[in-house]
Amino acid sequence: RIVYVNGDYLPESEAKVSVFDRGFLMADAVYEVTSVLGGKLVDFDGHTTRLRRSLSELDMPSPATDEDLLAIHRELVARNGIEDGMVYLQVTRGAPSERDFAYPDASVPPTLVLFTQAKPGLADSPLARTGMAVISIPDQRWARRDIKTVQLLYPSMGKMMAKAQGADDAWMIEDGVVTEGTSNNAYIVKGDTIVTRDLGPHILAGITRAAVLRFAAESQMKVEERPFTLDEALAADEAFITSATTFVMPVVRIDGRDLGAGRPGPVAIRLREIYIEESRRAAI
Ligand code: PLP
Repeated sequence: RIVYVNGDYLPESEAKVSVFDRGFLMADAVYEVTSVLGGKLVDFDGHTTRLRRSLSELDMPSPATDEDLLAIHRELVARNGIEDGMVYLQVTRGAPSERDFAYPDASVPPTLVLFTQAKPGLADSPLARTGMAVISIPDQRWARRDIKTVQLLYPSMGKMMAKAQGADDAWMIEDGVVTEGTSNNAYIVKGDTIVTRDLGPHILAGITRAAVLRFAAESQMKVEERPFTLDEALAADEAFITSATTFVMPVVRIDGRDLGAGRPGPVAIRLREIYIEESRRAAI
């Protein structure tokens, strides 16, 4: 596999980042994951816009222009022959010569790393047919989840807790309400209304979330962006998650309890179809 590091395209075995890199030492880094369908990038502009915001919230220097980032994404997709899959991008605050909590001065350039992962049949996941099971866990992440940092240890722990219970993912609960999944936004459907947590520091503003809410509105579906409780979720007719790599994925079980018939619901199925169709059409 060919990866990108600070201006160079290299075989992954030859790619290097300093041991003093703040991404490695302090999780002082932000990232984006852009999905690839039919060799094209899905919602690239949405991901670069969010990347700019993450960088700016952390006063982190920008590693490249949007045009350069697009060119690098395309070059990696082409060199690795990616038909369906994803491009991972990470920017760190670079590698000063000494470990120090204070940010280094502007002479230290940011580190930019990108790589691809092939996922043949990404849009045709078997999990979309059965639906997934989630468990609830307390949300013990930091309070700036709107910034897409690489501090992913608690979400990783959440995934492991889910796995240990035979589930696929965890929904995180704070003050009695569902914030989001470990790496996705969470939704419930009650009657004809889709409910998902409103944006703010407590959740990541998903790029897939924005697209799905737009498609839902265009299809005359009712959407409420507001906090919802775990009890509301357990009493919902259906549920689903969204993220760049899972698109829209039905949730059929929460904490071992089936939602509705325990099968993917019509709203999730419909939104998944629309999202994949529109994403293929608009991909660049
Ligand atoms: N929420 C969290 C915590 C995430 O990590 C992610 C994606 O990685 C999302 C939501 C979904 O965001 P997107 O749709 O941009 O992939």
